[in-house]
Amino acid sequence: MIRKLNFSAGPAALPEEVLKQAQEEMLDWHGHGLSIMEMSHRSKEYVSVAEQAEQDLRDLMQVPDNYKILFLQGGATSQFSMIPMNLLRDKKTADYINTGVWSKKAIEEASRYCNVNIAATTQHNNFTSAPSQDQLQLNPEAAYVHYTPNETIGGVEFDYIPQTGDVPLVADMSSTILSRPIDVSRFALIYAGAQKNIGPAGLTVVIVREDLLGQTLPGTPTMFDYAVHAAADSMNNTPPTYGWYLAGLIFQWLKRQGGVEGMQAINQRKAEKLYQAIDQSTFYANPVAIANRSWMNVPFTLADAALDKLFIEESEQAGLLNLKGHRSVGGMRASIYNAVPETAVDSLIEFMQHFERKHV
Ligand code: PMP
Repeated sequence: MIRKLNFSAGPAALPEEVLKQAQEEMLDWHGHGLSIMEMSHRSKEYVSVAEQAEQDLRDLMQVPDNYKILFLQGGATSQFSMIPMNLLRDKKTADYINTGVWSKKAIEEASRYCNVNIAATTQHNNFTSAPSQDQLQLNPEAAYVHYTPNETIGGVEFDYIPQTGDVPLVADMSSTILSRPIDVSRFALIYAGAQKNIGPAGLTVVIVREDLLGQTLPGTPTMFDYAVHAAADSMNNTPPTYGWYLAGLIFQWLKRQGGVEGMQAINQRKAEKLYQAIDQSTFYANPVAIANRSWMNVPFTLADAALDKLFIEESEQAGLLNLKGHRSVGGMRASIYNAVPETAVDSLIEFMQHFERKHV
């Protein structure tokens, strides 16, 4: 068996150690004679797995007690509608910061429910930076402020948490959650599709301040009401049990890596060396403002786009998978989430330098 180096943006690489553990536990979970996938979500065995996963995530992110952690389905995309449905309350307007593809999608969906005020946009520079705090035109009457701390396609990451006064702050952390410590108390709601830093696709994690629950728009479907999920410990219906279990294994793996503090040090090193390799060459380029370069998603272009196809072919032959940029922007993108080891980044840099020497 040869496992290749996977730079996929999501579903993304998972730690090999965790996959092996899941494999070992697959047919007979802890001597119970069945797979965890075949168990009732209401069995005491499964509930203990689910509770442990929640506790481990709470520990890792130091989630305060007045926040609920929800394990949902529907992807981050469902959150684009659940957020206005739950958080608009009696207000008619919400602030959104537009930094690229994913914030735009959130804006489009929210526009179905309220007046969206674009508090800032970086469209003028083709979404290659994040706006600074003093560029945010926040409406004090807004129901909440929504932003995307890390734009997965553009590779743009905020280097600060916006100050929004008393207005609740909502963050789509799909591609940056658990990559470094953050102060959860600064946020009203954090959400993330699991398939990057949490686990397999099919699970969506929401961390929400309790006082915001229970004031949904009229007509909100039961399954779109956070209060329903919070009251049922995310078991109002059958949850994505395998994804939740696997996320739990990842949280334990993260603890073994030194938690998010440990990951921060590794992630920073990985990103810095890759950007340095790009900047030192005239063959590769990354357009993002230095302060806003993502630690998780590193897009880069080749000076001669005619070589793109060859780069992909040769990188695949070298065992480096999924380096093709998003279909909307082209070029390359290396996603270097928590589960991508530093040695994989070293191999990527080595390959890039070798390719450059060959084709310059
Ligand atoms: N937001 C961000 C920042 C993302 O990267 C993605 C997925 N790439 C989404 C939202 C959509 O997530 P999902 O496919 O889970 O709906």
